[in-house]
Amino acid sequence: MIRVSGKEVAAKVRQEVQQACARFIESTGNRPCLAVILVGDDPASATYVASKGKACDQMGFLHRDYHLEATISENELIKLITALNEDIAVDGILVQLPLPSHVNEHKVLDTVSADKDVDGLHPTNMGKLILGTPVFIPCTPGGILRLLDEYEIDTVGKQVVVVGRSNIVGKPIAALLMQKGRDATVTICHSRTADLAFHTCSADILIVAIGSPLAITASMVKEGAVVIDVGMNRMSDTSRKRGYRLVGDVDFDQVAPKCFAITPVPGGVGPMTIAMLMKNTLHAAVLHHGRSS
Ligand code: NDP
Repeated sequence: MIRVSGKEVAAKVRQEVQQACARFIESTGNRPCLAVILVGDDPASATYVASKGKACDQMGFLHRDYHLEATISENELIKLITALNEDIAVDGILVQLPLPSHVNEHKVLDTVSADKDVDGLHPTNMGKLILGTPVFIPCTPGGILRLLDEYEIDTVGKQVVVVGRSNIVGKPIAALLMQKGRDATVTICHSRTADLAFHTCSADILIVAIGSPLAITASMVKEGAVVIDVGMNRMSDTSRKRGYRLVGDVDFDQVAPKCFAITPVPGGVGPMTIAMLMKNTLHAAVLHHGRSS
């Protein structure tokens, strides 16, 4: 069984981006700049935002962090994004999700200029992805593709089952894997799917993004499958100093012995997401400054 190390591949991606960034700065005199907007005090979101800032520092990027009160109005948030869209010093804009319930997430994400949309969630970028001409691939699906490539896991003609249909993971990874070149036969499952195990058991490659701890058990996985576990769930654990441990949507200990390859949690898909965000931010800077890095 191959334990797919997102930690190792992410380090490789980060090194590539760091080197490309150094070349970019040398040739343009500009530093890529990422603006990150965090609304409210969700501890997990605050941790992700801090990691993104640290990664920017490591890459040689500039970053601006906007920490806004949970009570901010939708209009004020949109005003800030509009100002960042117009700011030529800013290459990428990331709005940390989830947003408070009084804010319309779609409206906010649609405000981010498509050419600064390093999360790849703008309708224009989603549309291009579906058409097979992506500009910014959403970070987690981009990370999954890179993991498959690094471990030479071929998707041509394979039965891929994606469990979860979110806009940030399930829909885009399904759309990417069905494109010409990737050539997978893709099934998408969700909470209303009848007989989930029937579908998961047919998967050569099973991708799970549901946010339900340890939900995928050994009897739901085919012998020799590749399993990509996107889930990141906090499970109470009093033996840990922080009071919890991270677990995936897949019961790793049970499922791993049946697999050809599997991603662990933590250390699988998670580290890839930030690495791909760094790649997208550099890509945005290159597009803005019109030179290749
Ligand atoms: P969402 O909560 O937006 O969506 C969950 C999806 O899973 C929905 O489509 C839902 O169906 C489906 N679902 C929920 N429960 C079940 C079930 N029991 N059986 C089948 N389908 C189910 O999820 P996200 O994509 O945002 O996140 C999923 C998980 O991935 C979370 O744990 C999150 O923390 C993690 N994550 C990790 C990232 C990383 O970098 N590693 C990045 C992003 C997310 P329906 O549509 O019918 O409601």
